[in-house]
Amino acid sequence: MKRILVLVLLFAAACNQSTNTDANRVIISGIDSSKKPGDDFFLYANGIWFDSAKIPESQTGVGAYSFMNYPQRIRLQGLLDSISATNNTAGTIEQKVGDFYASGMDTNAINKRGYEPIKPVLAQIDAITDLTSLLKLVADEQKHGNGSFLGFYVGPDNKQSNMNIAQLYQTGIGLPERDYYFKTDASTLGIQTAYKNYLTTLFTLIEFDATTAEKNASITFDIEKQLAASHKTNIELRNINANYNKMAVAALSKKHPNIGWTTLLSNLGAKVDSVNIGQPAYYDKLNTLLTSVSLNDWKVYLKANALTSYANFLSRPFVDANFEYSKILTGQATKKTRSEEMTQAVDNSLGQALAQLYVKKYFPEDAKKRMAVLVNNLKKAFEVRINKLDWMSDSTKAKAKEKLNAFTEKIGYPDKWRDYSKVEVNRTTYFENRMSANKNDYAYSLAKVNQPVDRTEWYTTPPTVTAYNNPAMNEIVFPAGILQSPYFDLYADDALNYGGIGMVIGHEITHSFDDQGAQYDKVGNVTNWWAKSDFEKFKARTQQVIDQYNSFTVLDTVHLKGALTVGENTADIAGVAIAYDAFKLTEQGKDTTKLDGFTPDQRFFISIARIWRVKTRDAYMRMYVNTNPHSPARWRVNGPLMNFTPFYKAFDVQPGDKMFKPENERITVW
Ligand SMILES: [Zn+2]
Repeated sequence: MKRILVLVLLFAAACNQSTNTDANRVIISGIDSSKKPGDDFFLYANGIWFDSAKIPESQTGVGAYSFMNYPQRIRLQGLLDSISATNNTAGTIEQKVGDFYASGMDTNAINKRGYEPIKPVLAQIDAITDLTSLLKLVADEQKHGNGSFLGFYVGPDNKQSNMNIAQLYQTGIGLPERDYYFKTDASTLGIQTAYKNYLTTLFTLIEFDATTAEKNASITFDIEKQLAASHKTNIELRNINANYNKMAVAALSKKHPNIGWTTLLSNLGAKVDSVNIGQPAYYDKLNTLLTSVSLNDWKVYLKANALTSYANFLSRPFVDANFEYSKILTGQATKKTRSEEMTQAVDNSLGQALAQLYVKKYFPEDAKKRMAVLVNNLKKAFEVRINKLDWMSDSTKAKAKEKLNAFTEKIGYPDKWRDYSKVEVNRTTYFENRMSANKNDYAYSLAKVNQPVDRTEWYTTPPTVTAYNNPAMNEIVFPAGILQSPYFDLYADDALNYGGIGMVIGHEITHSFDDQGAQYDKVGNVTNWWAKSDFEKFKARTQQVIDQYNSFTVLDTVHLKGALTVGENTADIAGVAIAYDAFKLTEQGKDTTKLDGFTPDQRFFISIARIWRVKTRDAYMRMYVNTNPHSPARWRVNGPLMNFTPFYKAFDVQPGDKMFKPENERITVW
């Protein structure tokens, strides 16, 4: 729950790339010329692939990009298969990574143990006699990765971004977000039932009779529903200032006597006299519920938390129960392979160790140099755009440029790697391995409290196919995982790279100037650096973005949530424009020579459509639209392009075409 804006590139990909690396360039093929580019550019550029792509039963979607796309996953799985088959020296990262993976692959050993690994915590819950022992258990569980009703983390102080402080956020629910407890449409009701069934099954598996198991599920659901009622919506959570409520622990303890913050924070190991309480209403509610709900019901709820937190580390019936629920939530038909799951598990638990092996083998150092040039060109293009803005005063422009020039860029992988020397990994004890990694993560995070922010830290693992902007450090980060095709190719022409990774860079730069990022200054503090009237004009423009995206229909009656996605959409709209301007500064950008029958501009726009090439299951899409701040792929292409005049020129978009907007309705923010 770090305060970062993440460009999440979702979905596993089993994509038949129709761009092939030639000797020194990339060929474009697979255009669906039965579609008019001005009607639906996403389908024009991707239609042949889109119509024929099959979503594997074990996936929620396919595409050219993903958290761990298919080729990337195969590489990581291959690394892990080979390292786990080697006899590695004890204590080395190779041993830890290899044995961690091997322990997870050893399902015979895991199945034999049933739920024995969580019997101690279940016994501790049974032994709870009062609120004090209940809260002690919640604090201890936090250290093992079971957050329960406590959302505790350490992160930069938004008003003093060079210091880390203790932070609290709303949590305590099992469904994806608050609305899932209150909506009454058929799809939501189906998910509620699946969730209750899941809890019932888990209780049955720890040997409760069917009636009690069902009752326990409903007790848990009722507590969660009450907690959910106090949650802010994901749109309300975008209000940065409302999430900042720094308070003295003594005062907070007085306000919430049942929680007893002084003791709780001490049990968490946090020696602090103030905390930021992100969403106070949640903790007000929790404080009340701690006495209005019976201790016995709380014990049931805590058991449910332990079960859902650890189910995937236990024997097969627990893993199956979890899958039965996620099937309804995401539409995924069969489980992922164990190897795929374990690759993800190693990435979660020992990410920077696996990353070291990955970059050594797969990351070309030349990519760093080329990226540095690209980022620099994008920054220059953005600066020119700032100069040309007709709605912003010179004084605010100067501040915006100061911020732009103060950016930090991180490319590829961190300069220093995380230390895993305290993580104990044994080839036969998967559960304990995970707990050891969780404890190490907790200690790592806790050690930062009230300490200066380490500006070299990374918030994603380098093999991940993603990029992010962290406004608290005024930085943009491009891990090794995204520095490959179709985003980036050392052998591709500029049109494709600027439409690919260039667009991603532009997007990430813009996050520092979207509805949220614009409230952070050049060092990462939330302070207002805008002239008042400029900020009002800026808000009016982002409101246009909200209104336009609200009108996009995703599925049957499901519309995009404009207010939830405004930051991402602003970044997409400006990202395209900045990348295009930077492209126009290159030799190819000034030329008109066709390649594969396309002009340089056309290739640039096709590249944009290809990086968002994705096809997903409907159930997954429903959840995505409700919970994800990004627009679905199709709207990440068609949305920005219908607002961008050079696109109209490149593909001769005319009135009557479905994407056509009159010039005065085309939105530019930056
Ligand atoms: Zn983004």
